[in-house]
Amino acid sequence: MDLKQEILQTIQDVPDFPKPGILFKDITPIFYNQSLCSKITKAFAEGLVQKPDAVLGIESRGFLLGQMMANALNVPFVMVRKAGKLPGKTIRVDYALEYGEAAIEIQEGAIQPNWNVVIHDDLLATGGTAEAAARLVEKAGAKVIEFNFVIGLDFLKGRDKLVTHTNNIKCLVQY
Ligand code: AMP
Repeated sequence: MDLKQEILQTIQDVPDFPKPGILFKDITPIFYNQSLCSKITKAFAEGLVQKPDAVLGIESRGFLLGQMMANALNVPFVMVRKAGKLPGKTIRVDYALEYGEAAIEIQEGAIQPNWNVVIHDDLLATGGTAEAAARLVEKAGAKVIEFNFVIGLDFLKGRDKLVTHTNNIKCLVQY
């Protein structure tokens, strides 16, 4: 079975979670299968445009594959967390949600100016979160060279929000 098929068969669709009308794509079962995790990490690593200086993972499912990827590449892993969760001085970006506002942060000094950074999350929906993470990278003086997602919900057009940062946007499976 090819990797795409294996991922599609592993993801669970959960209707009306976390609220009515949302079809939640649950990637949890991927982490019950370490051989599949290794294949996904390898696919991301082999598809990179260049070796990055760091991998950024978005809270919380972006931490999982993002950290595996950073470990495989032997580069630092940087956590992007919801505002107020990281100790010490932070860099913060506010962004709009469907209803209301949110903010994310990284620790100051986690990314060096001029670094080339890859951003990881489990799923690309509207692209708002990944776009805000890209602005964090740029606020630190660094550059986004690639976005990696396991799943892309193409009908939500998240890609359109990200292309101002880079055209290298990879989703292993798409809906
Ligand atoms: P967005 O900023 O709209 O691209 O939302 C991306 C974030 O929301 C990701 O971190 C996903 O984990 C989560 N997310 C959004 N929609 C879904 C969905 N249908 N199934 C699972 N996770 C989702």
